[in-house]
Amino acid sequence: MITLYDEPDHKVVMYDDLSQGSMVQSNQLAVISKGECMVLDPGGHKVYSQLFSMLAGIVPASGLKHIFFSHQDPDIIAAANGWLMVTDATAYLSELWMRFIPHFGVDDLVVERIRPIPDEGAIIMVGGTPLKVIPAHFLHSSGNFQVYDPRSKTLFSGDLGASLGNDYWKVEDFDAHVKHMEGFHRRYMPSTRAIKMWVTMARTLEIDRIAPQHGAVFPSPEMSRRFIDWLDGLTVGVDLMDEGFRVPG
Ligand code: FE
Repeated sequence: MITLYDEPDHKVVMYDDLSQGSMVQSNQLAVISKGECMVLDPGGHKVYSQLFSMLAGIVPASGLKHIFFSHQDPDIIAAANGWLMVTDATAYLSELWMRFIPHFGVDDLVVERIRPIPDEGAIIMVGGTPLKVIPAHFLHSSGNFQVYDPRSKTLFSGDLGASLGNDYWKVEDFDAHVKHMEGFHRRYMPSTRAIKMWVTMARTLEIDRIAPQHGAVFPSPEMSRRFIDWLDGLTVGVDLMDEGFRVPG
């Protein structure tokens, strides 16, 4: 477990080594405030039982009240049913994906504990801290949110800022880190315009660290700013597809 922010009544923790085999490496993040916990993007079936028992060491099961799903991908939502069955938590997901997740086998008994997040976002109170659920649509999913914790000044950025193939958990040399992000962002992020809208919004937040769902954390205000500036200059997705599609053969 890596502790990203540590005050007696408010903690941000990350697990970065629960993925195995051919699974894409993913980070599981949690905010624990005054004994109440929000788990963010808690991972698939094989990750969930490990994460659940590890969290038991820092927060009682009764404190596990909120589960946030940034979007509908399997590395995020595949274990939704398990989480809802073993906790009393409320889960949150973009309203766009509500009718799709029952296909992951979410029981009728618990499906009403998944709350739809409207396009404009929401505020979720965790132990008295108002966590801001902010829109990040098309980054990369069409119904996509991030979470900003104003107490620790942590931005949980989901797939935005993801890096692959690096063996360190925090970015210390930004220029050397770019190669681990570039291919992913150019191909998985569909729209340069959505990137620009996000950059404008992100610059209104006071950010001490950015924690994506894959790869390394931007651990300081300076590294977070460098990431935002890098994104501002990046062209992605459909805006790189100059040649259109062709039928193979
Ligand atoms: Fe994704």
